[in-house]
Amino acid sequence: MAYLTKKCLYCITDTSGPRWTSGGPCAQEGDGMDSLVIEGCAVATVDGTAGGVIIAAGTGAEYRSGHLVTAGGRITAVGAGPAPAVANARVVDGGGCLATPGLIGTHHHLFQGLTRGRAQDSGLMRWLTELYPLWAGLDAELHGAAARAGLATLALSGCTTTADHHYLFPRGGDDLLAAGISAARQIGLRLHACRGSLDVGASAGGLPPDGVTEDRDEILAATERAIGAFHDSGPAAMVRVAVAPCAPFTVSEQLMRESAELARRTGVRLHTHLAETRDEHDFCRERFGRTPVEYMESLGWLGSDVWMAHCVHVDRAGITRLGRTGTGVAHCPTSNARLGTGIAPVPELIAARAPVGLGTDGAAANDNGGLAAEMRQSLLAARARQGATALSARQALAAATMGSARCLGREDEIGSLEVGKQADVALWRLDELGQAAGDPVWALVCGPPARLELLTVAGRPVVEAGQLCTADPATLAREARAAARALMAAGGRA
Ligand SMILES: [Zn+2]
Repeated sequence: MAYLTKKCLYCITDTSGPRWTSGGPCAQEGDGMDSLVIEGCAVATVDGTAGGVIIAAGTGAEYRSGHLVTAGGRITAVGAGPAPAVANARVVDGGGCLATPGLIGTHHHLFQGLTRGRAQDSGLMRWLTELYPLWAGLDAELHGAAARAGLATLALSGCTTTADHHYLFPRGGDDLLAAGISAARQIGLRLHACRGSLDVGASAGGLPPDGVTEDRDEILAATERAIGAFHDSGPAAMVRVAVAPCAPFTVSEQLMRESAELARRTGVRLHTHLAETRDEHDFCRERFGRTPVEYMESLGWLGSDVWMAHCVHVDRAGITRLGRTGTGVAHCPTSNARLGTGIAPVPELIAARAPVGLGTDGAAANDNGGLAAEMRQSLLAARARQGATALSARQALAAATMGSARCLGREDEIGSLEVGKQADVALWRLDELGQAAGDPVWALVCGPPARLELLTVAGRPVVEAGQLCTADPATLAREARAAARALMAAGGRA
C-alpha cells in the first residue's frame, strides 16, 4: 500500500504504515507531544461573534493572518497574528491557507455509494422503485466497503463528522450498523449512526419490497440494542446513535410514535426524511389530513432533539413550527436538484431560527459524495430561487459547520474554532490553480474544490497534503467497485 512514510506526528518515530489506525493514535493525551500549531493562515472561526459581540448566524470572528493551537484533542488557542510559544509542538506553516472548523454532514446513506449512476432521469419514487430491489442484496461486508469509500470521500472534502442514515436491514441483522461504525473508526471520522427502519412494505401498500422491511417490535429492540452498544454521550464522542425511521410513506404511524418514545427514554436524537417531494405532501394530506410538518407534530416529532432531511415542500406555517420548536433541517441541495424535487426554503428557515445544516444525501442521489461541494450548491440554489442576496458564502459555511452541529446537538463541542472545543479542523489550500486572491471564505465556498493541507479530528490527522492518512484510497475504491458489482449480481438474481 502506498501509505505516507513520514514520521508519526505523535510519537516521532518512523512508520511505514498509516500513522494511526482504527485503534487510534499512538499519542498519550496530555503529554504535550500531540500539540499542533498552525500559523500564518487566514482563519474563519464561525463562532457567531465579532469582537466579542454576538452577531447574526453565518458570521464569526475572522483573521486575515492568524493562528490555531490544539492539544489533547481540543483547541487551546485561536486568534490573530503568530501563535503563542508551545513546547514540543508540531508547527504547520499555514501560508496560502484558510483554517475553518471541520465540515459536518447531517444526512447520508453510505450504502448507496454502491448504486451510483442508476435511474439517472427518474424522480424520487421511480428512483426508489428501481433501487430498492438492488439494495435488498446488501450485507455487512458490502456495506463496510461502501462506508469506507464514502467516509474517505467525505474526509477528502473537509468533513470531520457525519451522520449516516442507515435504514436498510435486509436480513434484520445488527451487523450492518456495526459495519458502518467500524468503517468510521478506520477512516477516523466522527459518526452519528442513525438506526433507520422500514415497516410498510409492498404488501401493505408501501413502496419497499417486503424483503427489506422489518417487524416493528424487532426494529425497536434492535435500535435499543444499538444505543446500548454504541452510543457515547460524552463531549469527545466518536460514535453516537440516533433513532431514525425512514420516512412517513415507508413507516407506520405507530412506529413513528414509538420511535420518538424510545429516543426520549434513552436520551438520543431523532432523525427522518420529511417533505422531500410534492408527492409526499399530497400523500400526507390524503392519508392523515395534515401537511407533513403537521403530521410529525401530531406524533411528537417536533423539537430541539430532532433533525429532518430535506424539508423542501414546507409552507409558511410549517417553517414557523420548525423554527419555534428548534427542529433541525438537513439541507441536501445536490440531491434535491438531481432528483428534481425542488429547492428548500433555506433563507426562510434560517430567518425562523430553525437549525439548518448541510448533507450530501446518499451517493446514489448525489453521485459526488463530497461535502464541501454542498456549500456551493446551497448558495447557488438559494440564489436561483430568490436572488443574489438569498444566501451568503458565510451563511453557507456556517450551515456546513455550526448549523450542522446544532442539528446533531453538538454545538457546544464541534462546529466552530473556539478554545475548549474539539480539535476538528480543516486547513484548505487557497493558493492553487483557479483560486482567486481576495476573500478566502468566498474562494472556499464558490471557487474550485480546495485541496486540504490538513484535516484533523480530535487533533488526529486524517488528511495531509491532500492525501488520506488512515487508509489507501486506491484500495478503498477497488473494494467499493467490487462490492458494487457483487450487489448488482445479487440484485439481478432477486
Ligand atoms: Zn436521504
